[in-house]
Amino acid sequence: MKFNSTILKLTGFYLLIAMILSIGFSVAIYRISSNEIGRGLGKQSTLFQNLPPRNDDRFQIDFENLRQSQIDESRDRLINNLLYFNILILMASSIGGYFFAKWTLHPLKEAIDEQNRFTADASHELKTPLAAMRSEIEVGLRDKKINIVQAKKLLNSNLEEISKLESLSKALLKLAKLDEVKRYDLNQVNLGEVITEAYEKIENIANNKKVNIIAKLKNKDVLGDRESLVELFVIILDNAVKYSYENSEVNINMDDQGREIVVSIRDKGVGIKSTDLLHIFDRFYRSDQSRNKNKVDGYGLGLSIAKRIVDLHNGHISVSSSPDKGSVFKIKFPAK
Ligand code: ADP
Repeated sequence: MKFNSTILKLTGFYLLIAMILSIGFSVAIYRISSNEIGRGLGKQSTLFQNLPPRNDDRFQIDFENLRQSQIDESRDRLINNLLYFNILILMASSIGGYFFAKWTLHPLKEAIDEQNRFTADASHELKTPLAAMRSEIEVGLRDKKINIVQAKKLLNSNLEEISKLESLSKALLKLAKLDEVKRYDLNQVNLGEVITEAYEKIENIANNKKVNIIAKLKNKDVLGDRESLVELFVIILDNAVKYSYENSEVNINMDDQGREIVVSIRDKGVGIKSTDLLHIFDRFYRSDQSRNKNKVDGYGLGLSIAKRIVDLHNGHISVSSSPDKGSVFKIKFPAK
């Protein structure tokens, strides 16, 4: 509703500009044309006066009257034409202005819609753990015979929800910060070392799930922000392990293709449906599989953070996947 009134305001503004220009042009055209009409008919009058003198005043008066009425008639016609022209401009610029205003505001509307969706999704994700904590605490408080074991269980469960809230707020903060970064100060970073550091951070999770990570790394440098690059590979490797079946493998490969360095991370996990593939880099997007069927923890923010980091490195991230067979994430960086 507010947006529609903004469109109307902008249409009014465009209309005002169009009318000022049109009236300005019309006044100028009227002045020039009426001068020309006066001058053209003035020439006739001079010609008439240069004719041999006749003793016939009546004829001269008639001629002058005719000349004046021709001037008046031409000016009236000019005013009428300009009036029609202005009405036409008024109608055309109200319709055109409305569509032009809509077109001008379209990117802004999309950005606002996305922001609103983001806020709604974030509030929903924040509400879920809070609601779980509230109901557990209420049940605990109502239970008059609660013992220490039950109380500890309740506190531990609350602690789990608090960790979820912490990781959600961290991811939200990260996204907000990344949105503000226009570009990084790029330094020479060894990509092999970065991937090793990321691997060490998720090693325990992989071991617990008996997922074997096999890395074939090269000693290659790229221009980048080391901390963000580690974060990027933690996200992709963490997902590869999270969505892998137990006792499976994750392969990391680095390929120097001259102009680009390509890192591919392949898992043999649950895979991604083609309908989900289009959206997995969107904020808060999670496939139904990870939400319901496999119940993997997460908020659907990791890959949007990863994509933003890759973009800030002038790189490219892509994914190919087949359900139940696994996924391959490819990240390309421009060679240094
Ligand atoms: P999440 O916290 O849900 O993992 P991400 O943004 O990292 O959020 O991933 C978005 C969605 O993409 C996930 O919910 C999951 O459905 C899908 N996904 C990401 N990586 C993989 C993978 N390696 N294998 C299967 N699905 C994946």
